[in-house]
Amino acid sequence: MKRYKIASIPGDGIGKEVIPECEKVLKALSKKYSEVTFEFERFDWGGDYYRKHGVMMPEDGLDSLRSKDAILFGSAGDPKIPDHITLWGLRLKICQGFDQYANVRPTRILPGIESPLRNCKSNQLDWVIVRENSEGEYSGLGGRAHQGHPIEVASDMSILTRVGVERIQRYAFKLAQARPRKHITVITKSNAQRHAMVMWDEIAAQIATEFPDVTWDKELVDAATARMVNHPQSLDTIVATNLHADVLSDLAAALAGSLGIAPTGNIDPECRYPSMFEPIHGSAFDIMGKGLANPIGTFWSAVMMLDFLGEKSMGAQLMQAIEKVTADPRLHTRDLGGAAMMSDVTNAVIKEILQ
Ligand code: NAD
Ligand code: MN
Repeated sequence: MKRYKIASIPGDGIGKEVIPECEKVLKALSKKYSEVTFEFERFDWGGDYYRKHGVMMPEDGLDSLRSKDAILFGSAGDPKIPDHITLWGLRLKICQGFDQYANVRPTRILPGIESPLRNCKSNQLDWVIVRENSEGEYSGLGGRAHQGHPIEVASDMSILTRVGVERIQRYAFKLAQARPRKHITVITKSNAQRHAMVMWDEIAAQIATEFPDVTWDKELVDAATARMVNHPQSLDTIVATNLHADVLSDLAAALAGSLGIAPTGNIDPECRYPSMFEPIHGSAFDIMGKGLANPIGTFWSAVMMLDFLGEKSMGAQLMQAIEKVTADPRLHTRDLGGAAMMSDVTNAVIKEILQ
């Protein structure tokens, strides 16, 4: 009997809707696989917590997560609280506190889903974006001075460390090696960013020698956007810095059909701390509280979580159920042009699992 302790943090907006749905789906899976159970502990951190306590999560919050096997996260972002407070006070606090330095974002066109790319067949878009998740443009270093005066100044400092670059590129090359194509594209901007990105390129060339069976190429981040649209089949695994990958992965999610489908894992490959899995979308203020959210991105994130925990066949079964459901247009939520409610999708996925 395996018992996994999962922290679930719904957060804000539609996060509060999709995370409970995901717990239901995982409970259904453990009904099917009776040798595995999930013990969820729910944390009510986020915007409401901030209104009550002045912080997004308690000071010692990381301590209550430390002993968990994994974290399921919804979204942070509240219409009444500035985004940099919600982001840094919760999601980044966990990612950075637990040094989850690899953010992994698989992108595929699932059955029944149409890409906005004309003529793009589903087998022509199958990517994994690996995002550096601990430093770079989002290091948090910087500051403001002379606030409110005409001479006001502000800076955000981007830093890359050799250790940070080596570990993310090694992780990405290893992931590329495990995929059938064994190809990786290193995203750069070393023409304009002439210090750190030049080191990034040098380290890529160095790491590549450790993986003789992996082919690799380099692309400037701006050119990469065009390549994603014009030649999606030329890409497979992609590694990029924090900001570059942040932008590319939203484009990737849109090209695969909807932001509501895309999953991600914030991974500590060394397993010193629990890793965190979440849909890539935000709180979706425009649809929150209406039961219209697409829960597929969260369910797919749970697949990533199961794979990470080593429960590969459970993960595969959940993915199969997800794909059965996306294949049926009657079960598409509004973001996919359908009329289904979130609960219809959840119920259909559970039915597939229990069949
Ligand atoms: P968003 O992802 O919340 O929404 C963008 C658009 O996509 C909206 O029209 C929304 O309705 C739609 N959408 C997103 N997810 C959907 C789903 N599951 N089903 C159906 N439609 C969906 O992005 P935003 O509007 O830029 O941000 C809103 C808030 O969320 C902000 O406060 C932002 O900071 C926060 N945010 C948080 C995260 C995170 O916690 N990881 C990520 C992105 C944005
Ligand atoms: Mn983003």
